[in-house]
Amino acid sequence: MMLDEELRQNGPPDSFDNTIIQKECGCPRELYWFLRGIDYRISPPYFAWGRAWGIGLNAFYECDESLEIRMLTGLKAATALWEAESPEGRVNDTLENLQRVFKQYVSCYSHENWTQGKEYGELGFAFPIPGTSIYYAGAIDAYIEWPGYGALLREDKTTGGYLTPNFQSYWMRASQVTGYLWALAQILGEVPFGALINMVSKRKSKNMEDQFARNMPMKSEWQLTEFMRDTVKVADRIRMRWSRKQDNWQWPKLGERIYLKCSGGAGTSPCLYNGLCAAEVDPWVLDETYDYEDEYTVRSEKWAPWERKGDT
Ligand code: SF4
Repeated sequence: MMLDEELRQNGPPDSFDNTIIQKECGCPRELYWFLRGIDYRISPPYFAWGRAWGIGLNAFYECDESLEIRMLTGLKAATALWEAESPEGRVNDTLENLQRVFKQYVSCYSHENWTQGKEYGELGFAFPIPGTSIYYAGAIDAYIEWPGYGALLREDKTTGGYLTPNFQSYWMRASQVTGYLWALAQILGEVPFGALINMVSKRKSKNMEDQFARNMPMKSEWQLTEFMRDTVKVADRIRMRWSRKQDNWQWPKLGERIYLKCSGGAGTSPCLYNGLCAAEVDPWVLDETYDYEDEYTVRSEKWAPWERKGDT
């Protein structure tokens, strides 16, 4: 893991993804701990469920055999990831539920009007932001072609709650989706038609409409340009902390001013760094005595999940 001193010496990030920008906007102190590489001791099982779901869907859509074989291919890929990560699943986050929902999904969406080629699976990217020296990075779940509409990105979203109108409408304005549409525009050389948000609830239900939902946010070129302008402003705010003035090394605990951000509640997990933030010393003082590995896993490499499949 990186000590405070190393984080300072390494200099600011030059690539920014939605995770980094969101943490800075919600609570800079959270971003600080995150950049230090402090992570969950035991990764929550819903992370493995979501990853297995996405990998299973890509295997399903990339296979051009019969529906039965496609389903088995998807199930095999999802199961392999779950078993490799072997999370301690409970309630809905279990392998049994993953397989149940997957089969239900296949019967609900046995026929699609769009296609996903083999080369269009998860797509890591890091594109230079015009007029700056920094990059915008991320990983798109999948890229699809829909005759009559054009190119779209497909984003798979899972929830342990209900597919409420609020949950569904959130994705129409979500920064992650807008950022990915900007990235897809860089790949295509033009603004894509939009995004297909492919939502699933992990709760058991006999009704397909309670289990699955889709919507399709669209963004204009003006909206994508405005989004990236705002992203650069937030990235500048982060990079400023590395300027030579010592006073700039400040990572305020702004999460304390947002309802439920630190403590969690009603569908929100508590912040991972609650215990660290309770210490009555600055983190660089805490480093002298505290053994982070007692409570956390520590990531030694820099945050760059978009490099999983290579930069585009
Ligand atoms: S516990 Fe609260 S203040 Fe501390 S990092 Fe998390 S959100 Fe920020």
